[in-house]
Amino acid sequence: MNAGERQIPLAAGDSFAFGAGQVLPASCDLAIIGGGIIGVATAYFLARRGMRVVLCEKGRIAGEQSGRNWGWVRQQGRDLRELPLMIRSMGLWRGLSAELGEDIGFTQGGCLYLAENETELSYYENWLRGARSQPLDSRMLSTAELSQALCSPLPRWIGALYTASDGRAEPSRAAPALARGAQRAGAQIYTACAVRGLDIAAGRVRAVVTEHGSIATDTVLCAAGAWTSLFCGSLGIDVPQLRARGTVARTAPAQKILNGAAYCSSVAIRRRADEGYTVAHGSRFDHSLAPASFRYALKFWPALKQEQGAIRLCAGWDFFTALAQPRRWDLASPSPFERERVLDPAPDEGTLAEMRTALTAAFPQLAAAPFVESWGGTIESSPDVLPILSAVDALPGFHVATGFSGHGFGIGPAAGELCADLLTGQAPADSLQHFRLARFFDGTPIRPGPTI
Ligand SMILES: Cc1cc2nc3c(=O)[nH]c(=O)nc-3n(C[C@H](O)[C@H](O)[C@H](O)COP(=O)(O)OP(=O)(O)OC[C@H]3O[C@@H](n4cnc5c(N)ncnc54)[C@H](O)[C@@H]3O)c2cc1C
Repeated sequence: MNAGERQIPLAAGDSFAFGAGQVLPASCDLAIIGGGIIGVATAYFLARRGMRVVLCEKGRIAGEQSGRNWGWVRQQGRDLRELPLMIRSMGLWRGLSAELGEDIGFTQGGCLYLAENETELSYYENWLRGARSQPLDSRMLSTAELSQALCSPLPRWIGALYTASDGRAEPSRAAPALARGAQRAGAQIYTACAVRGLDIAAGRVRAVVTEHGSIATDTVLCAAGAWTSLFCGSLGIDVPQLRARGTVARTAPAQKILNGAAYCSSVAIRRRADEGYTVAHGSRFDHSLAPASFRYALKFWPALKQEQGAIRLCAGWDFFTALAQPRRWDLASPSPFERERVLDPAPDEGTLAEMRTALTAAFPQLAAAPFVESWGGTIESSPDVLPILSAVDALPGFHVATGFSGHGFGIGPAAGELCADLLTGQAPADSLQHFRLARFFDGTPIRPGPTI
C-alpha cells in the first residue's frame, strides 16, 4: 500500500544541527529565538535585506506547531483585525515555491465551512458581512452548489461558507524550505541550540546566551511558540499564554472529494500533496490545567467561555510537572528548553476514534481510507486569540512574536515579513496596533476573535 508522506519526520540527519567543533558567531545584527514558521520567515526576510541574522532553535526546524498543524492556509473565518495580514500572506504563499525553488505543497484548493444548522449558517453569514470590505472571494454556497463542490449527491449540510482562493501547504516542507532559503540569503541557522536567556546591561539587550555560548546583539526576537511565556517570564516580562493539545491524523492516499479543506464541528479534512487527507476533530482541544491556567484565568475567561464546547479541561500530573518547572534559572546550567527539545504530546486515542467515526459519517467516500499516522500538537494562544507582534517597552531591543493560536501557519509568511519590518524600525505604526503586547495590561477590552 502507498502510505503517503510522513508528516512528523523520524529522527534523522538535521543539516542545521549545531555540530561538534562548531563555533557560534561572536555577534550579529539580530538574533531570533525559535525555528517555527514565524522565526524562519522573519530570518528569511531579514537576510534578504542584507541583515546579519542568527536563528537558534532548541530542537529542530518545525519540530513543534509549525510541523504538526493541519496545513490550512485560510483567509476565511479570520478575525477581521488580522485579515489584512492574512490576505498579504496569501500573496506571499503564491510565490514561495518558485522563490524558494522547492515544492512546499501550496495549492489554492478552496476552503469550506459546512453548516449543519441555522445557527452555524448565520454565524458564517455574519462573518461574511463583516469581511465584505476586504478584497476577498468568500461567499455562501447553497446545498446544490455544495453537492457539486463535494462530489456528493446528498450533502448533510444546509449550506457553507466558501473561499475559492484559500489554500493549503505541507507543514513538513514549508518552514524547512524557508529556513533553507534564509540560509542561502546569508542567515545563520542553528538547531539543537537552545537560548537559555539574555545578557542585559544598562536595561538593554546585550547578547543572547545559548547552550553553546553567547552571541552579542542589541536586537532579539522571541518567536518561541508555546515556550514564549516561560522564556519571557524568566526575564520578568509577562506574556499571557496558554497551551492546548490537538490530535491529528493522516490517511493513506484516497479518493479526491475536494482539492482544499473542509470543516464541520465533528471533523476537519484537508487534501494533502500525497493525495491523502489530514484529519482532525472539528472541535476538540485538550487543555491540561497548569499553574498558568489559574494565573491567566481572568484574561482568558472570554475566550474560554466562547470556546467552552471545544476546550476540554483535563486535570492530572501535568499540573505538577508544570508546577515543578523553574521560572528562573542560572544561564550557566541547562535550562528547561534543553530538557524538552521537542514538544511531542501523544495523540488522544479517544479523539482519534471519534475522528474516525465522524470522517466516515461526514464523508462516506473516505470510509475505507485508513489512518496511517497520528500525532499530537501543542497549540498556544493569547487571551484574545490574536497574535502578539510587539516590541517590549520594558526591555529595549527585545521583541515578541507569539500567540498565533490555531492559525499561525497560514499567516506565517506575512507575520515574518512584518516582524522583519518591526525589528528594523520600518513597520507602519497602525500595522501593529492590534498586536501590541501592552493591550493585555493597559485596560484594552479583551475581545477574542473566532478560533476556527
Ligand atoms: C494541531 C495544530 C493544528 C493547527 N492547524 C493550523 C492550520 O491548519 N493553519 C494554520 O494557519 N495554523 C495552524 N496551527 C497553528 C500553527 O501551527 C501555529 O500558529 C504556528 O505554527 C506557530 O508558529 P511559531 O513559529 O510561532 O511556533 P512553533 O512552530 O511552535 O515554533 C517555535 C519554536 O521555538 C523553539 N523554541 C522555544 N524556546 C526556545 C529557546 N529557548 N531556544 C531555542 N528555541 C526555542 C521551539 O522548539 C519551536 O520549534 C495549528 C497548530 C496545531 C498544533
